[in-house]
Amino acid sequence: MIGFELSEEQQALRERARAFAQDVIAPQAAAFDESGEYPMEILKKSFELGFMNDNIPAEYGGPGHSCMDLAIVTEELGAGCMGMATSIMANALALTPIVLFGNEEQKQKYLARCAKEFTIAAFCLTEREAGSDAAAAKTFAVRDGDDYVINGSKCFSTNGGYADIFVVFALADKDKGARSMSAFIVEKDWGVKIGKAENKMGQRASNQVEVHFEDVRVPACNLLEREGKGFRVALATLDKARVGTAAGAVGLARRAMVEAVNYARERHQFDQPLAMNQAIQFKLADMAMKIEAARLLTWQAGWMADQGMRQSKQSAFSKCFAGDVAMEVTTEAVQIFGGNGYSKEYPVEKLMRDAKLMQIYEGTQEIQRLVIAREMLFKGNVT
Ligand SMILES: Cc1cc2nc3c(=O)[nH]c(=O)nc-3n(C[C@H](O)[C@H](O)[C@H](O)COP(=O)(O)OP(=O)(O)OC[C@H]3O[C@@H](n4cnc5c(N)ncnc54)[C@H](O)[C@@H]3O)c2cc1C
Repeated sequence: MIGFELSEEQQALRERARAFAQDVIAPQAAAFDESGEYPMEILKKSFELGFMNDNIPAEYGGPGHSCMDLAIVTEELGAGCMGMATSIMANALALTPIVLFGNEEQKQKYLARCAKEFTIAAFCLTEREAGSDAAAAKTFAVRDGDDYVINGSKCFSTNGGYADIFVVFALADKDKGARSMSAFIVEKDWGVKIGKAENKMGQRASNQVEVHFEDVRVPACNLLEREGKGFRVALATLDKARVGTAAGAVGLARRAMVEAVNYARERHQFDQPLAMNQAIQFKLADMAMKIEAARLLTWQAGWMADQGMRQSKQSAFSKCFAGDVAMEVTTEAVQIFGGNGYSKEYPVEKLMRDAKLMQIYEGTQEIQRLVIAREMLFKGNVT
């Protein structure tokens, strides 16, 4: 049986997230975009409301949101401000390796803490010379007695400037590449140093920094999964997290569409509303169609994740398609606003800048296509 209806609980969750996005996030979005300030108070509020760290299972004190729940919430937050949604989502991204691969002791220590106290976490995979090719990392972890000693630098670590907990991917042997990658939970106080923050085109209410590790000693008990399984941890984490990214892109695109519909109704040229022109109507119809398709792909991937099904291909479908839809829809929204669309007096130029990132982070659109093609060609996952 196929159903597209949300449960009563999910509808209520959506209403709560929508109210938070509309009443708290959206009114402050332009100011945070302008200043590039980190929205700490909004993050705290989102934690109190159960929208941050929401993938922590109930048995560790968290909201225990399913992947579908997360998609529902993130669509709403993305419609409010994608930069803030990214800050909120990045915590779930960093905690996912612990949710999926942490042992009981690690979960009791870190998930329970992040459920109880407002704690910021960062996911540290990317390096200056290792982006799409994450296995080319130059951050190394060497076993020394009961510890691992980590040396190297990460970049673009979202939330990194404010994080207390870092999930860090490091190699044991550069010749073995991905096969020697391991994942570690690292606490800030163990000597993690924060470097330069990025000054970005969009999503300016999120923080990305370089993170440096110089002889940082990490107790061996903070190794996630097993030595050499870090690449698997990263890929499984991204499979899940991409559903949230796709949902944020859907919300961002939806917001642009709503702005465009309102503007097309109100703005008059040639003695009639813009909306009376078929060329404008077709743009709006295309937006609606694409957003609906992106949402359905996102929900499918979320549903599959919740059923415990392998959904690498569907997660890549949703992230790639929804990211492209967000870019297309926001660009067309700017077009419908004309000159005003290019002005910071109106909301759509920010949406367009924010949308560009949806095609880049958590694996670029090209990498999503590689994931899809590999599933089809080498894993027999064709239909
Ligand atoms: C705002 C922001 C937040 C981020 N947050 C995080 C985070 O929290 N944690 C983290 O670890 N990382 C994070 N990232 C890093 C992000 O995931 C990478 O930027 C992304 O994976 C691309 O890597 P790169 O920038 O090195 O691009 P490159 O890998 O250098 O790619 C450059 C271009 O070449 C293309 N390309 C590369 N390889 C291929 C190929 N084989 N075939 C076809 N095309 C290819 C890419 O698609 C891209 O268009 C963030 C990035 C940004 C901008």
